Amino acid sequence: CGIVAYIGPREAYPIILKGLKRLEYRGYDSAGVALLNSGLKVYKKKGRVSELEESLQGVDLHAHIGIGHTRWATHGEPNDRNAHPHTSASGNLAMIHNGIIENYAQLKKELTKKGYTFKSDTDTEVLLNFIEDIQTNNNCSLEEAVRIALKRVVGAYVIVLINKNDPDTLIAARKGSPLVIGIGKNEHFLASDASPIIEYTKEVVYVNDYEIAIIKQDELILKNLGNERQTPFITKLDMEL
Ligand code: GLU
Repeated sequence: CGIVAYIGPREAYPIILKGLKRLEYRGYDSAGVALLNSGLKVYKKKGRVSELEESLQGVDLHAHIGIGHTRWATHGEPNDRNAHPHTSASGNLAMIHNGIIENYAQLKKELTKKGYTFKSDTDTEVLLNFIEDIQTNNNCSLEEAVRIALKRVVGAYVIVLINKNDPDTLIAARKGSPLVIGIGKNEHFLASDASPIIEYTKEVVYVNDYEIAIIKQDELILKNLGNERQTPFITKLDMEL
């Protein structure tokens, strides 16, 4: 229902948490974050963002890259297990997702035949393992695997992934659900709308349908599903906080 992500020199967790609170008006049933430091850490919980926050008192949340999510359940009841971020079978990838993967049952059947098991009841975890399976079989980059996977996906989505083996990159994509990228100095902010971003930067890019974003601290690359570079169109926000 709401997504926030950050990459840059600041602490990711406080930015993500504050952003999720700003997106609370969209309504949700669970919340979670994934942070990459020396390893990949995922914290998620049914309930409000403030409950997640309380449960993390005293936990070392130091990281410069992370993703956060508030969930409005469509596939699988609202509980801790089904909350986002989800992690892939290998444990290397974490993903947040807004929207619905309509052909997830077919994809799940194919993956189950290959021996995949699932920790949640969500369509999101199916897409994530579908992406990882493509990456493994084709021995390709995560970006490439996302592109191949999305050509087979029917539905609406914003997805954002972090990869333990590439801790300097966020990969995001959208179709049908909104995704805004804030451009800072050596940093990038991702969110469902501009409200979590505006206090940090007024320069944003609204990602178009069928675009994949490859985001590093100091670089934003947009590509279409045909692997062609797209020029990011930077919009200046003039709304006030
Ligand atoms: N379909 C996903 C789920 O049920 C994402 C829902 C959302 O947009 O929050 O977990």
